Amino acid sequence: MKITEVKMRRFVFDQTKQPFHPTWRPFPETHQDVMVVEIHTDEGITGIGAGGLMTAMNTAGAFFVGKDPLAIEEHWHLLRGVAHFMGRPWPVENALWDIAAKKAGVPLAQLLGGRHDKLLAYCSTGEIHSPEQRVEDVLKIRDLGFKAVKLRFHNPDWRVDLKVLDAVRKAIGDTMKIMVDGNWGWYIPPDPRLHPWDRKTARTVARELEHYDVFWLEEPLYAYDYEGLAELRANTTVRIAGGELNTGLHEFEVYHEKRSLDVYQPDCTFAGGITVARKVAGMAEAANLLFAPHTWTNGIGLAANLHVAAAASNCPFIEFPYAPPNWVPEYRDFMLTEPLMIDRDGYLHVPDAPGIGVTLDEDRLKSLEQK
Ligand SMILES: [Mg+2]
Repeated sequence: MKITEVKMRRFVFDQTKQPFHPTWRPFPETHQDVMVVEIHTDEGITGIGAGGLMTAMNTAGAFFVGKDPLAIEEHWHLLRGVAHFMGRPWPVENALWDIAAKKAGVPLAQLLGGRHDKLLAYCSTGEIHSPEQRVEDVLKIRDLGFKAVKLRFHNPDWRVDLKVLDAVRKAIGDTMKIMVDGNWGWYIPPDPRLHPWDRKTARTVARELEHYDVFWLEEPLYAYDYEGLAELRANTTVRIAGGELNTGLHEFEVYHEKRSLDVYQPDCTFAGGITVARKVAGMAEAANLLFAPHTWTNGIGLAANLHVAAAASNCPFIEFPYAPPNWVPEYRDFMLTEPLMIDRDGYLHVPDAPGIGVTLDEDRLKSLEQK
């Protein structure tokens, strides 16, 4: 089998409801701008990937033409070179795995190890809401079947966030797990970074979270404060999570060596592909730690991470980005024929079609494609 074309397609989907104000970006989101890579082969198998804007691949795609798509580890080294100079090309690597699993005729999760065919999903919220509003939100998502929810702590004063957690825990009792995400690991420009937590603040927050049986505290400090994370982790019973935007195996090796994290969260569309994400899962497993990949990109990225997570033995939950009325499956997965949704018991099932198992909705995409 040979690669015949690496094709980049870009789609813009306007948000039809109110603008979305997630804690990790300093300006509201009003639309999705998604770049999808398609890798075509001479056997008629096409692989797809998406997550981030891979503008470099408009030129770098030519490097792959004529090569065997199944030589993924070899292509990974080439993509690492692209990443050094031209952004994050990792959806290209995801598309190669899509081809490999399609060629094998099995879902990608099976090719990678086949540990699970479904995972418990946690509802990943995005915005800061008042205690009353957040309680109402969480009760609704519990009715949908979710067994876990992640709250954002990003107010200038974390005590305001704590009031939200207090209200939610009182409302749901022990019927759901709760995670907390500080979103202090990285910054989208022009974020003025007015009130990030320092090490002492993070330690105070973690101590408070212990009283609410919070399952993990994510990105309480800057992602490269390896020692700060390690110190925090050693001084709290709350699990410390991170790594969603880190790049490459070597950064995770530093987390590992410094004992910075309890939960490793590489996103296969950002971190260095499925190749790196599965190695990080193994690294965590060897130390009796957890693996729970970040998935917040779009339906294709979510599905790719779901396969990696389902193949691992140490993934307790899959992140399910869901923040109505803005971030709902129909918006997040606008490019797919079938948006991904949990079942009534809170599980997200691995698509059972060969490969990543999602299909582009070509009829709908016709009017959204940017030429
Ligand atoms: Mg996060």
